[in-house]
Formats: sequence, structure tokens, C-alpha cells
Amino acid sequence: MASTYRKRKGVAYDTWHNCSNCSNWPTSDYVERDTKPTSGERCNECMAKEKAGTCS
Ligand SMILES: [Zn+2]
Repeated sequence: MASTYRKRKGVAYDTWHNCSNCSNWPTSDYVERDTKPTSGERCNECMAKEKAGTCS
């Protein structure tokens, strides 16, 4: 399972993603961290993938 979290820069409403196969996975102009974000929303799609075991 991916342990890297990404969030697009400068988009106030964007959420933290941790699945590189998420349709909203940021590929440019993003903030990255390798620990679970302590603030901000988690992406619903990523959480669903995690639950379904399809997060990569
Ligand atoms: Zn996502």
C-alpha cells in the first residue's frame, strides 16, 4: 500500500491523496509527505480504494 500522501498546491478545497491510481492523484504542483496528514480532508476515492484493496 502506498504511504505517500499528495495534495495539490494552492487549491484550498483539495484533499490528501494516497493512491497513485486515484483519478485525482496530483502529478504536478503538489505537496508531498510520507506520514499521515494531521490536518485536512482525505480523498473519498482514495479511502474507497483503500477499503476495496485497490489502492496502489
Ligand atoms: Zn484520491
